[in-house]
Amino acid sequence: MTLQPQRDIGLYVHIPFCRQRCHFCAFYLEVARAERIQSFCTAIAQEIDLSRQEGLGGRRPLRSIYFGGGTPTALRAAQLASLLQLIRAAWPTESSVEITVEAHPSTVTRTDLSMLTDAGFNRISFGAESMNEQDFAPIGRPGQVKDTEAAVEAAHTAGFSNINLDLMYGLPGQSLASWTGTVQSLLALEPTHVSCYALTIEDGTTLARDIAKNLVPRPDESLQIDMESAAETILNEAGFNRYEISNYAKPGFSCRHNLLYWTDGDYLGLGPSAQSYVNGIRSGTVADLTTYTDMLNAGRRPIVERVGLSDTEQQRDALVFGLRLVEGVPRHLVRPDMPEYQALVRLGSRGLVECTEDHIRLTTLGRRYADSVAQELY
Ligand code: SF4
Repeated sequence: MTLQPQRDIGLYVHIPFCRQRCHFCAFYLEVARAERIQSFCTAIAQEIDLSRQEGLGGRRPLRSIYFGGGTPTALRAAQLASLLQLIRAAWPTESSVEITVEAHPSTVTRTDLSMLTDAGFNRISFGAESMNEQDFAPIGRPGQVKDTEAAVEAAHTAGFSNINLDLMYGLPGQSLASWTGTVQSLLALEPTHVSCYALTIEDGTTLARDIAKNLVPRPDESLQIDMESAAETILNEAGFNRYEISNYAKPGFSCRHNLLYWTDGDYLGLGPSAQSYVNGIRSGTVADLTTYTDMLNAGRRPIVERVGLSDTEQQRDALVFGLRLVEGVPRHLVRPDMPEYQALVRLGSRGLVECTEDHIRLTTLGRRYADSVAQELY
């Protein structure tokens, strides 16, 4: 597999705040408080400045900027706008740069959304999770379905022409009929992109404890498979193209930022717990806001892990991430002398991987077991 000589590059900002923690969530975050948000904003401005001074990413124009979390809209719209301004002053951007902000529907007003489009955000991703309110209580997700409807309508009015809605399936007590109802109701909101994630149980979460105590049923894997197929059918009929295991887009609306992860692109990560991959070096910032601010106040970038990958390791990662794409990886990039070649042949004989005329890709079965396929390639 030959790597890109000059990789495209994007920038990710991790905003580590939410109003409360959902029962299934294992991300690094804190419950939002004004004084902690203020010290985060001061610290990340220092991180942007230090990263710029160190020439991180070089002068390659950013293809995408992605504010994720956490809930970025736990910050005021004016705070998000000034962070974006600092980033754009520090790095050049492509003229068609995609700038995404993740949002919880209950945290934004029409005025906030207009401020965000005025500041240059051109894509918004709402965590809708479900369009059936009964699904919210067992997963501890705050807000109501009408908040999602109002927020998406306000986003259209504010000028967002690229709107993603995240859904989760296999929620406790959710039936196939309820799930297909959710996907159909979602279409009425006219998103350009939909992400459908199977609920997974992460150690240490409230949901894992509730399942262990038999308060909540464990997700049913075969029901989740039926739900995945049903979503694909409904979304295909509505003009969405499934381009990655969990992601569907109208033509021209695939997420440019996430495509960097799957096509061997580079990305800079800012904020506590953010990951970077630049010029073959993977690094991560500290997953603790207090240590993060302390290190920056001492004039140091808050990097706690840093690993340089060999060419062989870079090729393996590009293959493993590329296989998440429905089209797979171009055939000419996979050579018989690669260490992963024999594993691909074995996966092919078990019906998990297949060759098309010009690509190697996961089969429908392989997509269901993508994590196990990835493990066999490591
Ligand atoms: S809103 Fe998202 S990031 Fe925040 S706790 Fe819930 S799942 Fe986690």
